[in-house]
Amino acid sequence: MEKEFRKKEVRNKEVWNREAKPVAAQKGKVSGTVQIGCPVTGKCGGCQGFKDSYEKQLQKKEKFLKDCCGSFGKFEGMIGMVDPYHYRNKVHAVFGEDGRHNIISGTYEEKSHRIVPVDACLLDDEKADAIIVSIRKLLKSFKIRPYNEDTGYGLFRHVLIRTGRHTGQIMVVLVLASPVMPSKSNFVKALRKEHPEITTIVLNVNNRGTSMVLGEKEHVLYGKGYIEDVLCGKRFRISAKSFYQVNPLQTEKLYGKAVEFAALTGKEMVLDAYCGTGTIGLIASDKAGEVIGVELNGAAVRDAKINAKANQVNNISFYEKDAGQFMVQLAEQHVKVDVVFMDPPRAGSDEAFLSSLVKLSPKRVVYVSCNPETLARDLRYLTKKGYRMEKGVGVDMFPWTEHVETVVLLSKC
Ligand code: SAH
Repeated sequence: MEKEFRKKEVRNKEVWNREAKPVAAQKGKVSGTVQIGCPVTGKCGGCQGFKDSYEKQLQKKEKFLKDCCGSFGKFEGMIGMVDPYHYRNKVHAVFGEDGRHNIISGTYEEKSHRIVPVDACLLDDEKADAIIVSIRKLLKSFKIRPYNEDTGYGLFRHVLIRTGRHTGQIMVVLVLASPVMPSKSNFVKALRKEHPEITTIVLNVNNRGTSMVLGEKEHVLYGKGYIEDVLCGKRFRISAKSFYQVNPLQTEKLYGKAVEFAALTGKEMVLDAYCGTGTIGLIASDKAGEVIGVELNGAAVRDAKINAKANQVNNISFYEKDAGQFMVQLAEQHVKVDVVFMDPPRAGSDEAFLSSLVKLSPKRVVYVSCNPETLARDLRYLTKKGYRMEKGVGVDMFPWTEHVETVVLLSKC
């Protein structure tokens, strides 16, 4: 039963009006009865709000998925979270000043550059939020001014915090408009004193007038300059700029389903297309004969190679290339591929990739999608060219937002 949506004045996270009673919902164990309030709902743009119960949200997502892709085959439903809060392992805050020159931190208002002050977010890692609040207080006592985008004055622009859910490691990235930070080492000392759980602190220099958070240059102020996390039994290195899924608990479920659908026996030649830092391929490597990963982003490919070494995986290789062009080459060289994992960005795949995929004719294709609409378009193509959709399942990677993630298994007719 859904309770009344109640808003309360919230000044800090202690007064969150949160009563999440887990109920045995039809679609796995999810928190169905939620009574919640957020002071910046509708302003910050980080989520779609908490008006519906979580269970209702899952139902809506499943309906959208089925509306888009249901005509191609059966879906096993939507895998939700038991506790759909504080799942984000990457938290960003922009810093600025209010009308009275008080330092504020939070998110940009949707489609604008006005800062909405946020101290605690129901989606963020709670420690990360607490560290951001501490940094704001420290800035005041160290007399460090936030950067003003309009005038170009000031120093402090953003904070990015990344946490390793399994390892407990925490990286703090301080983004400044200039590499010169007054009382740098005392600031680091004071921050570490308040938060001894921080394992590394990085200074990132961003002196550009763009909306990108991170600049090119980095200086490690404390620790190794990166953190590590464990996903499906494999260790992954995460640096300030690495791509890494933001919801680690659900990512394990997503990758678990992808590997299950692939039904590998230990002999297959596997292609991990749009592989990012190599996560899916590395997790599947124990059950495969050989794995090839392809990815456009050079930094991600470098991380993928480091991840392979760190996990002593020797049957995997990575290529920095456009996935479509790479597939055309493989098809021209008549390379035998048994199973293809593909995890394209929101725009989905392209004709070059899909037509070469059909030529390579793997037994199974496991399509991981973050956009049901482009998934439907690509399924239409593949199901006309000799593939059948066997099954699919939704995984709620981003509770309280409209994003829908899906894994689909296709096999050769
Ligand atoms: N499978 C990875 C990454 C998925 S995100 C994971 O789960 O972590 C999609 C990835 O596709 C991104 O890393 C992006 O850089 C990459 N990408 C986007 N367009 C590409 C293209 N044309 N060819 C190869 N990779 C591409």
